[in-house]
Amino acid sequence: MKMQLQRMTLTTTVVLSIILVSISHPIVAQEDNRAIEFPNIPGYLTLKCDLHMHTVLSDGSVWPNIRVQEALRDGLDAISITDHIEYQPHLDDIPHLDRNRSFQLARQAAEGQDLIVINGAEITRAMPPGHANAIFLEDANKLNQDDVMEVFKEAKRQGAFVFWNHPHWTAQQKNGVATLTEMHLELLSSGLLSGIEIFNESTFSEEALDIAHKHNLALLGNSDIHGLIDWQFEVPDGGHRPVTLVFAKEKSEAALKEAFEQRRTAVWFDNTLVGNAEFLIPLVENSLEISRLGEAMVQTLMIKNSSDSDYIFENLSEYTLHNQASVFVVKSHETTKIQVKTLEILPSFQLQFKVLNAISAPGVHPEISIIVE
Ligand SMILES: [Zn+2]
Ligand SMILES: [Zn+2]
Repeated sequence: MKMQLQRMTLTTTVVLSIILVSISHPIVAQEDNRAIEFPNIPGYLTLKCDLHMHTVLSDGSVWPNIRVQEALRDGLDAISITDHIEYQPHLDDIPHLDRNRSFQLARQAAEGQDLIVINGAEITRAMPPGHANAIFLEDANKLNQDDVMEVFKEAKRQGAFVFWNHPHWTAQQKNGVATLTEMHLELLSSGLLSGIEIFNESTFSEEALDIAHKHNLALLGNSDIHGLIDWQFEVPDGGHRPVTLVFAKEKSEAALKEAFEQRRTAVWFDNTLVGNAEFLIPLVENSLEISRLGEAMVQTLMIKNSSDSDYIFENLSEYTLHNQASVFVVKSHETTKIQVKTLEILPSFQLQFKVLNAISAPGVHPEISIIVE
């Protein structure tokens, strides 16, 4: 009797699922086109995060729930709304005293969704130290105090992860060159600053990448969106927001924090990947699926790229190509044919490509190798 009941429940569930899938599928398919996709790498999930954004509760133009909806459309795994602590230009229209309010509203809006919302805030000061985001905060209100060193210490007391925002922002650094000051060195040596934005909204900083390498900082790239993601990054025309890719042991806030503390991050902006080779190489390799068509001295291969990034490869293999120049593009979500002149029919051979639109250290592009069998 019990068994029968279970079977009936199972059947009902299956039927219900089929109905639900057929109802919801058209909507899901439409959303899928814009969701940002990157494969996981061995041992870690690749979580797509935007950890710098604003709402009407500081100087943004939208309510926190819109930030959540944009993130869901982009298939993000985690966001942090980082409204300014010290800059509240809409206070006359939207009076509020609580600096945790945008987080609370965003978390409510994300309820029941597969999106992690992290409490964050932007410490907004003149240079030095400029602007910094504190994420994984317990209480953003406690950062609302005069002495800036005390603010960073309070963030640390709360167990927050703090990163330097747009160190190359020309409003605060006229020549656009990210430069460490005495105060930054003090923050770094006290363990009060642990990451740096190498990309912010639409600008990249080689110098920030250099600082990150010299001081072992996590790399971040974020939208710093104030208006709408779709308009700013021209998403309907194929654009995408910058994201911080975080290589985490699981999809949870604690795992994200652990990954930041261990500096397991990379940045994707404007079809460019930046991060340590130990993460970028498996990320690119896992994006590709190679199939061999027949066996010939001019060997045809099909390369399927399942990631959201096009890859620009420079051929470093010992063989030349028959249908491509030494630099060619393997487009995102497409299959690209290459023909390799192996001179004899080989049971297996190795290809070596430099990934020109990836940067693993200042001035360095990572190299991937592929065994064809
Ligand atoms: Zn800022
Ligand atoms: Zn900002």
